[in-house]
Amino acid sequence: MFSKILIANRGEIALRIIRACKQLGIQTVIAHSEADKDSLPVRLADEKICIGPANATHSYLNQRAIVSAAKITNAQAIHPGYGFLSENADFAALIEQSGLVFIGPTADNISKMGDKVAAKKQMTAAGVPCVPGSEGALPADKDMVISIAKKVGYPVIIKAASGGGGRGMRVVEKEADLLSAISMTQTEAQANFGSAVVYLEKYLQTPRHIEVQVLSDTHGNAIYLGERDCSMQRRHQKVIEEAPAPGITDEQRQQIGQACVNACQKMHYRGAGTFEFLFENGEFFFIEMNTRVQVEHTITEMVTGVDIVQEQIRVAAGLTLAHKQSDISITGHAFECRINAESPDTFLPNAGRIDYCHMPAGFGIRVDSYIESNYTVPPSYDSLIAKICVHDQSRDQAIKKMQAALSEAQITGIDTNISLHQRLFKDAGFCQGQMSIHYLSEWIKENIQIES
Ligand code: ADP
Repeated sequence: MFSKILIANRGEIALRIIRACKQLGIQTVIAHSEADKDSLPVRLADEKICIGPANATHSYLNQRAIVSAAKITNAQAIHPGYGFLSENADFAALIEQSGLVFIGPTADNISKMGDKVAAKKQMTAAGVPCVPGSEGALPADKDMVISIAKKVGYPVIIKAASGGGGRGMRVVEKEADLLSAISMTQTEAQANFGSAVVYLEKYLQTPRHIEVQVLSDTHGNAIYLGERDCSMQRRHQKVIEEAPAPGITDEQRQQIGQACVNACQKMHYRGAGTFEFLFENGEFFFIEMNTRVQVEHTITEMVTGVDIVQEQIRVAAGLTLAHKQSDISITGHAFECRINAESPDTFLPNAGRIDYCHMPAGFGIRVDSYIESNYTVPPSYDSLIAKICVHDQSRDQAIKKMQAALSEAQITGIDTNISLHQRLFKDAGFCQGQMSIHYLSEWIKENIQIES
């Protein structure tokens, strides 16, 4: 096992990793920006090292600075968290070349799954069902593109092969709009992701977003930890997640879980990963794999009892998984609310000073956060400031627990979306479950007078 790990991230996930390390008896070094120097994770890590200014390009995305920080502090491994460099194959390769360990999959795993076109090919080969669409990248020939779209059937969605974070996608309703939509998506993809490669998929009308959590070690063992329903999205960004996904039978869970495990074994995957699917009319369609720990891993931890971050660290150190598939069972129901520093009316990010912060606690309530009273949320980063999670015996009981938890949460001085969550946890449609990915944007259109 490692004796010291460097954390190349900030906020709640940095703190999550510090906690896992403490439990494993591992020392932590946090590599932080100037803007985060007084933040809670920086104070709670055993050591800290400043790697640059607030602007992430020069700090959290500065690969050489991070690797040097690990060398200087004698850390043996680097945990990238999520976002920033967590799915950057070059970073993983640089770390391994420097004689350190990247706590995540191999650079080869990341680059193969990071390219969504290559990932779909690999999944099809492993027997995982995918959304019907172009076989690979769209060709330059316009007539060919038109005939591919016609064959798939409108509406279609144009997606950047290296897109992420809900960006680089465009829905096309009819042939007349196809070519211009492709060229716009290509231009955006080149500017945002450094690659103009795009592909096309059938645009599913009312799917749910269901994803499967996996863990895989370097000894050929892989397990699935059930699924999460992340259909409550705004602009392709998740807002509320739950586990298990309502209405999924044990048989469906086992079937899709096993397909994901087979894919992991086939590609010699290492660490934690998530296979994302759209689920429509009882069928799963693979859309992409996330080769890192996800924001919403917490709810899977609550229903399975498996510490996903500890497992990531263990398998990166070459140990075998601490759990076998036969040990895993899903108990009760869990929800996560993403608390963002943003206006509940306009959804615009809203950084600034928090005067007072009180987070809920109690039986079956978990809060992963890094904010505190008198803390100033810097404007430079993602607006996620806390994750409020609850676990109870049934979905209905978990809803009641979340209502209670939200009523206790108090953050003053900045706007947050807590009131949005409070309204959603009283909404009859949401409380019933099995919403499609469009439910939230339609709800917002009806209930909040802004364009969603
Ligand atoms: P990203 O990597 O940016 O998160 P994904 O491929 O995971 O992109 O898609 C994000 C979201 O976009 C999905 O959860 C879903 O809401 C929507 N989406 C993606 N592909 C399709 C599709 N073929 N049909 C309908 N919605 C889609």
